[in-house]
Amino acid sequence: MFLQYFEDKYAEIVDGDYDLIGVSMIDLSQLIPALTLTSLIKRKSKIPVSVGGSYISQIYDELGELPSLFDEFFDYASFGDGEETILALADHLSTGAPIEAVGNLTYKDGHGKIVKTGQAKPVKMDALSIPCFDDYDFSLYFSPEPIFPIQLSKGCYWGKCEFCDYFFAHQKYTPKPVDEVIAEIKHHIEKYNASKFTFVDDAIPPGYYNKLALVIIENGLEISFYSFARLDSSFNSEVLSNLKKAGAKFFMWGYEAESAKILELMNKGINPDDRLKILKTSADLGIWNHGLFIFGFPGETIHDIEQTMQTVKDNRDIINSCTLSNFALRKNSLLIKENSGSVSGNEIGPFYHVLKDDAELLPQKQRSKMRADFQQSLLDENPGSLWVAVAADLDHLLLYLSHFGYDYVKNYRSDLPISHAFR
Ligand code: SF4
Repeated sequence: MFLQYFEDKYAEIVDGDYDLIGVSMIDLSQLIPALTLTSLIKRKSKIPVSVGGSYISQIYDELGELPSLFDEFFDYASFGDGEETILALADHLSTGAPIEAVGNLTYKDGHGKIVKTGQAKPVKMDALSIPCFDDYDFSLYFSPEPIFPIQLSKGCYWGKCEFCDYFFAHQKYTPKPVDEVIAEIKHHIEKYNASKFTFVDDAIPPGYYNKLALVIIENGLEISFYSFARLDSSFNSEVLSNLKKAGAKFFMWGYEAESAKILELMNKGINPDDRLKILKTSADLGIWNHGLFIFGFPGETIHDIEQTMQTVKDNRDIINSCTLSNFALRKNSLLIKENSGSVSGNEIGPFYHVLKDDAELLPQKQRSKMRADFQQSLLDENPGSLWVAVAADLDHLLLYLSHFGYDYVKNYRSDLPISHAFR
């Protein structure tokens, strides 16, 4: 389905007289369109193609076992931070500098052998320049104005949740200095007339976020933003109030599950009793709370899931919208690494009881159905609600909250069945 589109766009892409094309994939959903594009470039031109991004990092080990990918789809694949790898690769291609000097790279050598270069040093956040958006035509986006991504850090400052693989390629948490973030925001305001931002971080520590908020206020920057956030008890009323004043419109909070037992198994590292207090403080300040929930973590019983659903229902005034996900066992998650080679037989290890529960008490299929039915019931109970529609696209939620305000979005009801359009 992407082929015709890319064939139509192909001339525009290669007419730029490029010596290297880099394609980033941060999610599985980008794999097929990205490889459709790169295969076209490979078939029709001699321009070298390099792929990278967090999704490629997740499957990096397997790439070495699939040499045909390097013939059909790309010439190089890089792991982890790509900023210096792509520069070193460009240097190799233009000056003939040894390819071995390019860190974190996989390629096929002249003998058809897949070669991996050595590990590169992690890129320092304060060594990065401000991303350039000059070649973007913002009028092509289905949005009245652009929302600019800013990365405050690499990695996650907690980084221990059993189900998570976000931090896999970055490993160690490194923040960007606050004065550099402010310079980046100011640059986007001056150059692109920007006012809306998304902080594209795995999780932002409350102390750092508070400091950033105070400097945004001090500089009089009139902006709106949103980000992921942990339900960390340090998000107290002072911190949240500063964030609100700085322009926070909503947070995507990892609530995960109501049960303290499940939270413990997930190694979420937050106090279960503080979660609703944080959400109440946030909502009272007029910050929208988007809750993230996982259904079916190993060990979760029907009762646990019912508890989570009840929490959402009982707290609709402070859990303004939510994403309900099925648990997925990701190959680079801590959960699978800790159980590697021990998930069958009698010697199953510390998660034996968890996995046994999963097999005997509540099959994943049943949990998925509970999730789907619950989602449907939320849609049916809120016909015409704007939040149901905009929560399907969180950038739009930022635009609505910035333009109309918290109360308007919360209370809006249309005669039209808006929610039905977004199933
Ligand atoms: S789920 Fe969030 S808080 Fe937990 S390790 Fe992953 S990014 Fe960090």
